[in-house]
Amino acid sequence: MHRLLADPRIASFAVRLGATTVKRAVDDVLRAARSNTQTHGSDVATFDALVAELVERLAAEESETMLDVLNATGVLLHTNLGRAPLPAEALDAMRAIGDGYSNLEFELGAGVRGSRYERVSSLLRATTGAQDGLVVNNCAAAVLLILDTFARGREVIVSRNALVEIGGGFRLPDVLERSGARLVEVGTTNRVYLRDFERALGIDTALLFRTHASNFSMQGFVADVEARELAALGRRVGVPVVEDLGSGALIDLAAYGLPHERTVQEAIADGLDLVAFSGDKLLGGPQAGIIVGRSAPIARMRANPMLRALRVDKTTLAALAATLRLYDRAAGVARIPLYAMLAATVTELEQRAHALVAAAGGADSALLSVVATQAHVGGGALPLAALPSAGVSIVPAGGDPNAFAATLRRARPALVGRVDGDAVVLDLRTIPPERDGELAEIVAAALRG
Ligand SMILES: *Cc1c(COP(=O)(O)O)cnc(C)c1O
Repeated sequence: MHRLLADPRIASFAVRLGATTVKRAVDDVLRAARSNTQTHGSDVATFDALVAELVERLAAEESETMLDVLNATGVLLHTNLGRAPLPAEALDAMRAIGDGYSNLEFELGAGVRGSRYERVSSLLRATTGAQDGLVVNNCAAAVLLILDTFARGREVIVSRNALVEIGGGFRLPDVLERSGARLVEVGTTNRVYLRDFERALGIDTALLFRTHASNFSMQGFVADVEARELAALGRRVGVPVVEDLGSGALIDLAAYGLPHERTVQEAIADGLDLVAFSGDKLLGGPQAGIIVGRSAPIARMRANPMLRALRVDKTTLAALAATLRLYDRAAGVARIPLYAMLAATVTELEQRAHALVAAAGGADSALLSVVATQAHVGGGALPLAALPSAGVSIVPAGGDPNAFAATLRRARPALVGRVDGDAVVLDLRTIPPERDGELAEIVAAALRG
């Protein structure tokens, strides 16, 4: 046991996995080896065989910890791979605030307790044009807080085309039910009119609720109610109107050759009372749920004790504020990784792909080729929009692309690509250019076997 723990090949794992985990693995492997020798009469395992078994086992355990991944899938907001990469400014702010104490809830001027949310609220007012804003853990929590504040034990009118599942188990009807609100469905799956909402109004109506169809699209014989019309109805009858916007773009994606995606500013300009969206989708910041809208309903949510259970950490607030500031700075948006990736031209990506084939291929360069690919925004946004992109296609010598893809995933950093027919395709749009060298090394090593 002592010799195994001291062996450098094993000791190095203790730093990354913790001493207890490593000791437990050594215990297990020794116990299994003893039992094999005693009960099955197997040969006594050599020291090196034990080390090899432990290294394999600990490496497998390490891949269960959170690791750095090179995302070559071409999906920019990949929920399984952590959605939006953070801007350097956000990371710097997290470090600066997380490193020590801060004036999180303290007014330095007066020396008295301050508001945790005030700074980010004022940035949200400036960037979205809303009267006020609030931040919770994620968009699902934002929807829950809205429903809990306004609709517990009361009715929420939703059109049938808005009863969506976002993925990861977020189904709007389930969240509505959980919040204690009663769901009143109106219209049909494909057609809903303003009069459907009008007819469903009653003394128990707490909210009119709409969802932005971010992750699907409906075509054909369809009719929907415009946000503006619904907002006008809400004002006329004195019922707040809410939109679950989901992605939360603050700029027009048409500038990147994508279809226009409804922005937060547009939702506010439509006259909605409250708009909820995520921080780590098209905003390109940390995981957060953001609610913007009119002052009075936001103030009611601030006073809801549930806010305490959904509140965000100081480092999240610091990262979100730093990301929002980039929207208000010349060339700031280009510093947000999501938008830097969106802005890359196909020519640039092709040039990088050619350089990669040259760097990684070596004797095996015949197995590699530059290919045109299609990247996707992901994160439930613009499901139908493909973004022209470029990458490297590798037809592994062994002939099994799934095995080759698995080898790339075992590398450190792990490299995650896509299997397409008999090839593994690595899309470069989602790889930061400064990491091309690492990617080339991983591919070269995998080709060597
Ligand atoms: C993504 C999404 C959500 C959930 O957002 P999270 O921040 O992941 O909780 C809710 N509603 C819509 C419309 C979405 O697109």
